[in-house]
Amino acid sequence: MNAINAAGWRPSMGGADNNEMKSATVSGDHGLMLEEPLSFELGAEGKCGVDFAEADRPPMANISRFLRKGTPPLPGLTEPEAVRHYTRLSRQNYAIDLGPFPLGSCTMKHNPRLNEKIARLPGFADVHPMQPQKTVEGALEVIEQLADWLIRLTGMASVAMSPKAGAHGELCGLLCIRAALDARGETRDVVLVPESAHGTNPATAAFAGFKVEAIPATPAGRVDLEALKARLGPHVAGVMITNPNTCGLFEPDMKAIADAVHATGGYVYCDGANFNAIVGKVRPGDLGVDAMHINLHKTFSTPHGGGGPGAGPVVLSEALAPFAPLPFVTRGSDGEIHLVEEENRAEGHGQAFGRMVAFHGQMGMFTRALTYILSHGADGLRQVAEDAVLNANYVLRSCEDILPAPFAQSGPCMHEALFSDAGLAEGFSTLDIAKGLIDEGFHPMTVYFPLVVKGAMLIEPTETESRAGLDRFIASLRSLTTRAKAGDESLHSAPHFAPRRRLDETLAARKPVLVWPEA
Ligand SMILES: *Cc1c(COP(=O)(O)O)cnc(C)c1O
Repeated sequence: MNAINAAGWRPSMGGADNNEMKSATVSGDHGLMLEEPLSFELGAEGKCGVDFAEADRPPMANISRFLRKGTPPLPGLTEPEAVRHYTRLSRQNYAIDLGPFPLGSCTMKHNPRLNEKIARLPGFADVHPMQPQKTVEGALEVIEQLADWLIRLTGMASVAMSPKAGAHGELCGLLCIRAALDARGETRDVVLVPESAHGTNPATAAFAGFKVEAIPATPAGRVDLEALKARLGPHVAGVMITNPNTCGLFEPDMKAIADAVHATGGYVYCDGANFNAIVGKVRPGDLGVDAMHINLHKTFSTPHGGGGPGAGPVVLSEALAPFAPLPFVTRGSDGEIHLVEEENRAEGHGQAFGRMVAFHGQMGMFTRALTYILSHGADGLRQVAEDAVLNANYVLRSCEDILPAPFAQSGPCMHEALFSDAGLAEGFSTLDIAKGLIDEGFHPMTVYFPLVVKGAMLIEPTETESRAGLDRFIASLRSLTTRAKAGDESLHSAPHFAPRRRLDETLAARKPVLVWPEA
């Protein structure tokens, strides 16, 4: 545990009110919840999980300079030790396959096993981006078919498939905008971003070289159209708007915002992370959007988390399509699939700003997303949005009598219910409710985001939770709220039953110890 302690993480069993339980065991294990050291602490020299045969000939002379000089500093573990190590660790983890992940903005939904089955077919799983094109026509067909669905679902002109995450897609969109401005010979340098935006929006704009200006929200939690209009001018490159926004609300002025931005020569970037709420219902292209990333790993299932794999294709308007990055997979007028690269960029992509990644993007995500789309069909996708919104409103209306819901008077929410911690007993806050949820067997909701709401609790149940499952979550949330209102001190030390207690989250985030010190 040394490495973890160095980062300020406190082992759970050392918590004050668990001391008694701890002394009951000498192993440190807790019922069937097992403590686990690092593999380096477990391992010993000379142990190995595999028996290698002795080499029957000396190494080739011309590779001797590549031979290892000594034993690599890896933990020596037998196979059962390695298997138990990872199985024990996995039991300390929470997963979407164990229960709901109500993280607002993250869209953590069930991942259909069918997606996995298809993504693992050798013809998809084992393709290599440097294979001759004629040997990967099926993979290119998958990219093109998915692109076609994304274009039709969003009502846009084109889509850049290669960005590897939402934030990467934001960068791609802003680089398209930058390239379009360059082509017009303009040097607009300001991007307007609402106060409620996800942190990646201002970060991306700054990274792409723009100055960021915040635009305020109305008391109803929407972008203040008049305040935005007052900021527009020849220096504004564009706006970044999230729709539905991070307060879980649809931006009804989106078209008016886009018209105003276009009238002053700017572009409209839409953060499409919340597309789950409107897929099959609203086409962003109809609202005047010029660029929008789609988090395939949110709206179209596919496992994600912990920085795991993602894909953030960016749909583009007619105005921005010519600047999309290479490579580009298109279906030509001859009906054949064309791979546009540097050497044939004249085929409609002469103004490409460059490339976002070396190759085509996340093939595994493309396969999963297309499987999800094809197994739902257009009507099924519309129902995804409807059920996601229904579930969020069920949570909202089931708790608004006990937790303040800042924007609930203005009507139903979209796919996320937003509460504030105003009204809890003195000294109690959102964090206590979040930690209490862990003891109740739930992953906490998104906390303290969006910043425009005091002690925000952003809950996204997604469409894949059943009514019975939602009722269990609601019962826990109500019970915790009642305890926090009554000043129940035991909540301050929650979680009591998790493998780790309250962590020093600032230290863990700022000074993580990620390397075994003796390596
Ligand atoms: C998730 C999210 C992003 C970033 O997407 P990544 O795929 O995590 O890079 C941006 N904006 C919003 C609103 C999000 O929820």
